[in-house]
Amino acid sequence: MHGRCALIIGGSISGLLAAHLLRSIGWDAIVFERNATNLTGRGAGISTQIQFVDILRRIDIPFDDSMGIHVGTLICLDRSGGIVRKEPTARTMSAWSRLYGALLDRLPTEKYRLDMQFERFEQNDDGVTAIFSDGSRVRGDLLVGADGVRSCVREQLLPQLQPNYAGYIAWRAMIDESAVPEKIRAEVFDLYTFCLPEGELFLGYPVPGRNNETKIGHRAYNIVWYRPTDPATGLVDLCTDATGRCHGTAIPPPLIRDEVIADIKATARALVAPQAAKIFERSARPFFQPIFDLESPQIVFGRAVLLGDAAFVARPHVGAGVTKAALDASSLADALSTAGDDLDAGLARYQREQLSFGRALVALGREEGAYLSAQLKPREQRTGEELHRDFDRVVGMHNARTGKIQQLIAGRRADV
Ligand SMILES: Cc1cc2nc3c(=O)[nH]c(=O)nc-3n(C[C@H](O)[C@H](O)[C@H](O)COP(=O)(O)OP(=O)(O)OC[C@H]3O[C@@H](n4cnc5c(N)ncnc54)[C@H](O)[C@@H]3O)c2cc1C
Repeated sequence: MHGRCALIIGGSISGLLAAHLLRSIGWDAIVFERNATNLTGRGAGISTQIQFVDILRRIDIPFDDSMGIHVGTLICLDRSGGIVRKEPTARTMSAWSRLYGALLDRLPTEKYRLDMQFERFEQNDDGVTAIFSDGSRVRGDLLVGADGVRSCVREQLLPQLQPNYAGYIAWRAMIDESAVPEKIRAEVFDLYTFCLPEGELFLGYPVPGRNNETKIGHRAYNIVWYRPTDPATGLVDLCTDATGRCHGTAIPPPLIRDEVIADIKATARALVAPQAAKIFERSARPFFQPIFDLESPQIVFGRAVLLGDAAFVARPHVGAGVTKAALDASSLADALSTAGDDLDAGLARYQREQLSFGRALVALGREEGAYLSAQLKPREQRTGEELHRDFDRVVGMHNARTGKIQQLIAGRRADV
């Protein structure tokens, strides 16, 4: 196994985790990212799971207080701003750019190649050749597709497979702590806050701020607001820019029309607790992401594998995208290390472990998102649970998640 090299397509969280974990078992790994500059500017809050923290430790990245903000209380606010529920929770909220920066800093710069748009690959018994849009060809022993939900690697391997739109979008916003009015900051900033407008789900919580600061006064507030949106009418309109061009099912955030932004802020004032609406309104450019899930029937294809969101996407309710990326990468490294020279056996083991885990995680996300998806059905066709959300069930599923993921991991090992 000595001297093997993995070509990793996609330089985000999955790609970097795969590079570190493969390097930890003695492989060489080179990451190819299509963006010309590094991705540090991406701003989104990320909830983390204990299993993710364990894998970071394995690659010598301590998950200390600079990595995230601990949140110990969960509340639910009603439309008038009253607290209808308050209970303890234990969550650590990090920021995408903080995790990305920690992973990137520890990778030798020559192993992270920007401005490398992967186009296709060829393989034979000896290995793989990745071919890039500038015509360059790079030879390796294994190709790792870590290029996200719209993966080009997967497109070549499973051209028929498309992500499923879940029937709702997530509006997202990050607001500097200093921009949150003092009274509201004292009332809700440190808490994990739910608002439950009919048919929707609004979440707010503190995350590291600009430059990934976790000190009080320098943090940020992250909002994720799930709203059912008809694909044929609502989503098409939201994805149409000011020139009238429709961008399909997702639009780059800077192109979201001003009137769409004004409208969502007015809707926040009408539907969610005033404290939450006031914070949301302070965001200059909230943006939205349509929610998809994706289930690959296969993740190993000779010397090419899929990993992270390229392989499976669970709806974000499970808050486990980066955890799954880490588990995929550690499963791949462990399987290859255990199999020694028998690369095929190692890859087969990776597929057995992570295929069942990915499927189970997607199912968990669908279960948590079922109420939101059902809102596109005519009212008379909805079941009792789809018409009336039980608050205990929403919070119960949220709180039980880490335990459920632990059970899925245990189940994954039992399958092998
Ligand atoms: C609304 C929302 C909320 C979320 N909240 C959470 C959360 O709280 N906790 C959590 O753990 N996860 C969350 N996630 C999911 C999480 O962000 C991802 O699962 C995780 O970051 C892993 O992504 P990835 O690295 O596999 O793919 P991506 O981050 O999509 O990265 C793919 C990379 O591949 C590159 N690429 C694509 N095509 C090519 C090509 N042809 N050539 C070269 N490079 C290419 C892209 O530029 C990109 O950098 C959320 C997702 C959404 C949509």
